[in-house]
Amino acid sequence: MKDDLPLNPQALDLDEPVGGLASYPPSDRWDDWTEYDPTQWPKKVEKHYSLIPTICFNCEAACGLLAYVDKDKMRVQKFEGNPAHPGSRGRNCAKGPATLNQINDPERILYPLRRSGKRGEGKWERVTWDEVLDDLAARIRLALQEGRKNEIMYHVGRPGHELIYNQRVLHAWGIDGHNSHTNVCSAGARTGYAFWHGFDRPSPDHSKARFILLLSSHLEAGHYFNPHAQRIIDGKMDGAKVCVIDTRLSNTASKADYWLSTWPGSESAVLLAMANVLLQENLFDSEFVQRWVNWEEYLREEHPAKPQTFETFLEVLKQTYGQYTPDFAAQESGADPRMIVEVAREVGRAGSALSTHVWRNAAAGNLGGWQVARALEFLAVLVGAVGTPGGTSPSAWNKYIPTPPMMPPPPNAWNELMWAREYPLAFFEMSFLLPHFLKEGRGKLAVYFSRVYNPVWTNPDGLSWIEALTDESKVGRHACLTPTWSETAWFADYVLPMGHASERHDLMSQETHAARWIGFRQPVLRLALERQGKQFNFTYEAHREAGLGEVWEEDEFWIELSWRVDPDGSMGIRRYFESPYRPGEKIRIDEYYRWIFENSVPGLPQAAASEGLTPLDYMRKYGAFLVENDVYELHRKALKPDEVQGSTVDSLTHVVKKNGSSIGVEIDGKAVAGFPTPSRKLEFYSKTLKDWRWPEHSIPGYIKSHVHRDNINAAKGEMLLLPTFRLPTLIHTRSGNAKWLYEISHKNPVWMHHEDAERLEVVTGDLVRVQTAIGYFVDRVWATEGMRPGVVACSHHLGRWRLKEDFGGERWSTALVDLKQVEPGKWMMRTIHGVQPFESSDPDSSRIHWEDAGVHQNLTFPVQPDPISGQHCWHQKVTVSKAGAEDRYGDVFVDTNQAHEEYQRWLQMSRAASGPGNLRRPLWMIRVYRPAPEAFYLPSK
Ligand code: SF4
Repeated sequence: MKDDLPLNPQALDLDEPVGGLASYPPSDRWDDWTEYDPTQWPKKVEKHYSLIPTICFNCEAACGLLAYVDKDKMRVQKFEGNPAHPGSRGRNCAKGPATLNQINDPERILYPLRRSGKRGEGKWERVTWDEVLDDLAARIRLALQEGRKNEIMYHVGRPGHELIYNQRVLHAWGIDGHNSHTNVCSAGARTGYAFWHGFDRPSPDHSKARFILLLSSHLEAGHYFNPHAQRIIDGKMDGAKVCVIDTRLSNTASKADYWLSTWPGSESAVLLAMANVLLQENLFDSEFVQRWVNWEEYLREEHPAKPQTFETFLEVLKQTYGQYTPDFAAQESGADPRMIVEVAREVGRAGSALSTHVWRNAAAGNLGGWQVARALEFLAVLVGAVGTPGGTSPSAWNKYIPTPPMMPPPPNAWNELMWAREYPLAFFEMSFLLPHFLKEGRGKLAVYFSRVYNPVWTNPDGLSWIEALTDESKVGRHACLTPTWSETAWFADYVLPMGHASERHDLMSQETHAARWIGFRQPVLRLALERQGKQFNFTYEAHREAGLGEVWEEDEFWIELSWRVDPDGSMGIRRYFESPYRPGEKIRIDEYYRWIFENSVPGLPQAAASEGLTPLDYMRKYGAFLVENDVYELHRKALKPDEVQGSTVDSLTHVVKKNGSSIGVEIDGKAVAGFPTPSRKLEFYSKTLKDWRWPEHSIPGYIKSHVHRDNINAAKGEMLLLPTFRLPTLIHTRSGNAKWLYEISHKNPVWMHHEDAERLEVVTGDLVRVQTAIGYFVDRVWATEGMRPGVVACSHHLGRWRLKEDFGGERWSTALVDLKQVEPGKWMMRTIHGVQPFESSDPDSSRIHWEDAGVHQNLTFPVQPDPISGQHCWHQKVTVSKAGAEDRYGDVFVDTNQAHEEYQRWLQMSRAASGPGNLRRPLWMIRVYRPAPEAFYLPSK
């Protein structure tokens, strides 16, 4: 048969499908969509489905899903892409459809559980939701009444509730109680961007780019995987070239036009060398830089004796960055200097159509990693690619955050258990230091919520977390809100089953491209039942009817809990949970979203009316709404006359001020929005860093990482461990119950260059011991050319474990382990057995054919907080050796006393508040769940 013939010859007679290979059921038939039952083939038996949109819960990208709800069985048959979703456009990665595994997991937690033995002992009993809510509400009420506000903490992983839902709850309680995982994730990159333009993320416009410069492997494996990936492909198909800077030969790197395999931590040196080429070869946009960069402030502050002209600035700039020669960058990074020059010239040629992206990896791996993001944005600024078509926008321009009803005022409260004085510029909470802060007696917790978060497993130094969580004098009550079992849930007092992607509400909006959209996650079974005429007060009632136990809708949990904290309204909390439509009565979840869609999403009421729908029904039907398309160059937006009225313009800086706040900047005599920085311009020079005692880093620069080559003694067998890379098929900690995903990915070997493998006399499959500063782990080797010599790498997605044979961990993905404290502070984990087939209501569980569960490396990492961004610096200096006779695959040893010493060593690098004016933190910087301005000041001595 010829290669170009289709398998079925009849296909030759078929017309090409309208719209190419993409094919979706038309939305006017979503209420009753018919397909043949494949299990009945060759008979043609029709099945009827209600197609209900929702949002994937498996990463932050918030892609649209379309749930096919079988109308007879009231079960989700499958999830496909939602073509009406502007970000994902009907497409998903493997993790989207695998949501089906997660909701049908035979081991999922269906009812609330309370521990009945000691914490961590693994004894559980079923309790009612009323018991849980009453107990937690009473403890919260007491803490608030006794002024122990900082003893209530909500610690969130991702995703969901990005759009301020929970801020409403915590601010109504009057607390500064939000803790997040961000400083083990993206704080480094965020800091670098924020010092440039006030906003904390990049939003690349890949599809219109001429050149795409990616740090790390985000296309296939990371942030916004699917929405970015499809647009990078669009860009490539239109002729854009791609450069990937990544130590490891990632899938993305393997498809790129340029791959620079750099020594981890040297990325800023490479980027600054590119900046140097742009400057020396005049490949930059002088007009853009002159207009939008705060060069005048820089000269004023740092070179007051020189002529204060743009020409002087360019001279200084060329001189300053002249030290970053391609040869210097090559020496630091190991990359080919000619390729650095070639890529720089491509960047220059791309001009305003240069799209760039960095998220974790280099920015999250290294001491000073935030300067990687700053150096990358420097390139975008030099070529004028800020907010342009094909360029890179600040994230907030491509995100829409609607206002909910009745926002409580921000509290005058500051929680130093998260926002510690030593880290005044930390971009998010110092969450991963919590066990050490508790150990030092800085505070304690009355009620701790871990919410879709697994710090014992995800964070570095997880055994210090276990020590803290099992100490009831430090943590009074721990409620774990989670759709699945996790290593952290095991050490909780309550395990509370929360809904998955198709069982909850959330409003989502992400910077996937140059537009603003909102997506609506919703409980599809409840909706399908309501379409059949059923009515429910709470979503869990619908779940019960559909056979889903008592899985709660999370918004309803917070409403119900808040109501019970303040049942008579005397604490001023209850009013924020009353219906905007039925005064004095408890808000229903429908009413909450109805109000938002009616009142704070521009264009939605009109779009809905044009289809004869209410705004809520429109969102229930389509699951997403495009608020604005083609959003570019918002910094040029003229201030409106009513904004300008009553404002003043600073004669020196041209900043436009009103009521004590800066609202814009005068450019060419016109008042425009600019950027939310102190100068309202792009800040090449950060006076903030100077004022907060980091003058040496006030401009984009290169900070030698803690894993710089100088700190690694190869002669002693030391190497660098890169532990941050993702697999495209897994999620950190929520995908353990996705059988399709674990069948594909269930190993995380140590990637090692052949030269290193030869030196260590190991081959692929051999065991090695990887020694860190506080312990070691034992893993298999994968010898490859795709890794830089001297560096080893291990994916952070594998190594899940459980402590009981048939309970407390997803058996598709966890190894059964023995975890012992062999001496005070000295912990040893040994695998009893790997993944095994098991009997369950899902016949696939008895067909499991893989044994490997991977190795849990994060346990062996000390905390390494960057003193400026607060980011945990993930890369490790390690000693790798051939495993000894006593070593077993999966072994982990950790000394938590050493871990505390390492914490103290890194703490020494910090430069504590107060800052100017007795501030804890610069007022202009973003702070999540921002408290009242008064809270930013330290108490006077
Ligand atoms: S990229 Fe994949 S995991 Fe992330 S939201 Fe989209 S479909 Fe889900």
